[in-house]
Amino acid sequence: MVDIKTNLLQLRKEIPENVELVVVTKTRTNEEIMVAYNAGERVFGENKVQELIAKQPHLPDDIQWHMIGHLQTNKVKYIAGWVSMIEAVDRMKLLRYINKEAKKHDRVIPCLLQFHIAEEETKFGLSIEEAQEILSSDEFQKMEHVKICGVMGMATFTDDMEKVSREFRHLSNIFGQIKRQFFADDKEFREISMGMSNDYKVALNEGTTILRIGSTIFGPRQNT
Ligand SMILES: *Cc1c(COP(=O)(O)O)cnc(C)c1O
Repeated sequence: MVDIKTNLLQLRKEIPENVELVVVTKTRTNEEIMVAYNAGERVFGENKVQELIAKQPHLPDDIQWHMIGHLQTNKVKYIAGWVSMIEAVDRMKLLRYINKEAKKHDRVIPCLLQFHIAEEETKFGLSIEEAQEILSSDEFQKMEHVKICGVMGMATFTDDMEKVSREFRHLSNIFGQIKRQFFADDKEFREISMGMSNDYKVALNEGTTILRIGSTIFGPRQNT
């Protein structure tokens, strides 16, 4: 039996107070999620809208949900009323939809720009040039219902921690560059979301501010 509470307490000891933990709940049951909730966790993450909207109504209202996976524009409307952060903004079109749907709810949705830092082609994310193009566009400047709070990235899935470290450092550098260029006086642009179960220790060394962790807390997933 996986002892979720013990795993969490152990993990919490390794995470400094200024780093946020997103408890990644994909494939987990509401019962499992409630163990984490009752241990004091309030920030949870899902990578699929379908699963997020299936769970959210059955779980406590004070949970802050992060959408951490690739998001289709036609699904934004299902989460825009309550999602607390959209972490994987990887194209202008998505930002446009988030802005439009957030407006209907009279909200400003905090977002992170996802960058492609891994070697694998399969991972989503912007290049720095693409991000610069978005951030300097008139269209973006006029958006009143999205707030870009930082960057997010996923390292290559590998045991080579030197490589992971280089990729995280790259994301840190991107954060610095975007910050200087577009958000120099903006205190809310401060997040670097990097680090999962297999690489969170490396991420802590490289200056992460948001960890997204599932398996270390809940045990291995059967399917992803
Ligand atoms: C699944 C997932 C995680 C967490 O993965 P674990 O290895 O279970 O910690 C983090 N980020 C994203 C985007 C994910 O999809």
